[in-house]
Amino acid sequence: MVHAEGVRKRFGRLEVLKGVDLTVERGQVCCLLGPSGSGKSTFLRCINHLEKVDGGRLSVDGQLVGYRQEGTRLHELREREVAERRRDIGMVFQRFNLFPHMTALENVVEAPVRVAGLSRATARAEGLALLDQVGLADRAAHYPAQLSGGQQQRVAIARALAMRPKLMLFDEPTSALDPELVGDVLEVMRRLADDGMTMVVVTHEIGFAREVADTAVFMDGGTVVEAGKPSTVLSDPEQERTRAFLSKVL
Ligand code: ATP
Ligand code: MG
Repeated sequence: MVHAEGVRKRFGRLEVLKGVDLTVERGQVCCLLGPSGSGKSTFLRCINHLEKVDGGRLSVDGQLVGYRQEGTRLHELREREVAERRRDIGMVFQRFNLFPHMTALENVVEAPVRVAGLSRATARAEGLALLDQVGLADRAAHYPAQLSGGQQQRVAIARALAMRPKLMLFDEPTSALDPELVGDVLEVMRRLADDGMTMVVVTHEIGFAREVADTAVFMDGGTVVEAGKPSTVLSDPEQERTRAFLSKVL
């Protein structure tokens, strides 16, 4: 579903991704770990067309990110085409980014109605089902300010799912939450994984990564230092840099 080969990205003189190689198969969960500044968010943003890749090949569901292929020719995507591709990818950020003036249900219903052209009735029915799926059926009419951080984050997940994405990206979805609220959000993500969603998750929740991830990837300095089964990468890593990092976060 996600295939990266030698992906490079620079901001001015700062090279942030220095040739990232990574593959996430359909239905798999990949957890991405690494120190601050190692390029994890930038890599997710590249997958989601929020940043332009400078070099290498990055594809999602067989399509090169940022380009349309005709025969052997590559054409840069127009804005509208980028928007279409982005619809297939859901993203959840550290901060919940809900629309503050809309209820939980309105937040979830907004994009399907406005972007995907669903009827309001259909979108509402689906939105209620999604809120139920994240354990918030009884909070549909609440505004973000009336919800806890964990509840807001679950609304954000429901909102992303409302566009029926084929890939979900999570960028430290629980790191802004009070500790007692983390579990509910991870539980929703775990169920999503069990249902077969393809997911790339930047997280330092090692327990979650161990139990849910098919692959764990340790990034440092803009490259993948180590990737493989969580039981190896997170418990018995081969690389000294991975070991040093884990000893700090565990
Ligand atoms: P963290 O764990 O702190 O979230 P990260 O691994 O997600 O870190 P990135 O956010 O991808 O790291 O940032 C990698 C590097 O790129 C950092 O040095 C950051 O300052 C830099 N960077 C990120 N976005 C930009 C930008 N838009 N312009 C300039 N530099 C940027
Ligand atoms: Mg980040």
